[in-house]
Amino acid sequence: MKFPLSMTAGLAGYIIKNRLMPRPEWQKSAAAAPDAANPFRILPGNAATPGEKRAPHPMIKKRFPIVMMLEPLHACNLTCTGCGRIREYESTITERIPLEECLAAVDECGAPVVSICGGEPMMYPQIGELVAGILARNKHILLCTNGMFVRKRLKEFRPDKRFYFNIHLDGMEKTHDICVEREGVFKEAIDGIKAAKAAGFRVCTNTTVYKETDMNEVEELFEYLKQFDVDGHQIAPAYGYSSVNDREIFLTRDDVHEKFKDITRIAAKYNVRQTPLYLDFLKGEHDFPCTAWGNPTYNVKGWKGPCYLITDGHYKTFEELMTRTPWESYGKGNDPRCEHCMVHCGYEPSAALGINAGIADNLKMLKWSLS
Ligand code: SF4
Repeated sequence: MKFPLSMTAGLAGYIIKNRLMPRPEWQKSAAAAPDAANPFRILPGNAATPGEKRAPHPMIKKRFPIVMMLEPLHACNLTCTGCGRIREYESTITERIPLEECLAAVDECGAPVVSICGGEPMMYPQIGELVAGILARNKHILLCTNGMFVRKRLKEFRPDKRFYFNIHLDGMEKTHDICVEREGVFKEAIDGIKAAKAAGFRVCTNTTVYKETDMNEVEELFEYLKQFDVDGHQIAPAYGYSSVNDREIFLTRDDVHEKFKDITRIAAKYNVRQTPLYLDFLKGEHDFPCTAWGNPTYNVKGWKGPCYLITDGHYKTFEELMTRTPWESYGKGNDPRCEHCMVHCGYEPSAALGINAGIADNLKMLKWSLS
């Protein structure tokens, strides 16, 4: 199976329960309001063209978190070209969220999957305790890392079928080292993969596709990783949101469709973990609204809204994020900043929830989750 049975069954049960009994207080979309603290914010409209009224999909009114993005710190040992965190959070780069606060945020959110990211989370002093604390809450974890500290800190973790190291690799050695702006990173990440697999851990990789990315090289990378018995691959297009608005490297929607035109074949050959409907979306064969509320982000400043990419506010509580964010004002056609966004944190929840899905799509998802 693509995922452990316990994960597939647990997630399916969680989604069904929340679809049937969504928390009423999370379903109201706050009105968009001018934000004096953020004069650069582009105020969204709520229609694709003036006068046009968009009818939100029924699931848009059933909001609940699926994957929580937890950033215990923003400090990193690298300065990757496409990373927005080291730019957006420059003023708080030395701050960390205390362990107890991280765990309280996991409890407050209630999402069944926690993606620990950053910054470089393996630089968080209590990373082993954090992972153990989240596992004790019966959650699934993706620990997103550049892989440089895996060997050094491996003894702080215990293998668990709900815990994955998710190691960033944007290409083969030369390309990846250019992307992360340091020689030797690819080699250390591969050594980290080997060490983690030898110690019985589950390991997947995470690849971001930029304008310069050669998809043949991505395939070459997946082929190369086979020898290490890697448990799967995540792949998504980069998006030029405000803090890294470098149009040279980021993709438009048309660029994404072109890059991912052959992704179904690649996904079938290797264990690509993105849902087939999300891959169809990347190819331009399926349309989704943004469901960023499915992937809420917590960091040193609080709950970041509306999404992992753009920041119109930080909220003290998860409740405030859910009730004070004008969710229906975001996404393609609603906010110019969202126009070319196809990232998984905005759209994988849409695929998982079966938004705009027909019978054939649902069968495709079922076959995929059981394969
Ligand atoms: S489309 Fe959604 S995930 Fe993408 S930038 Fe806009 S709000 Fe964020």
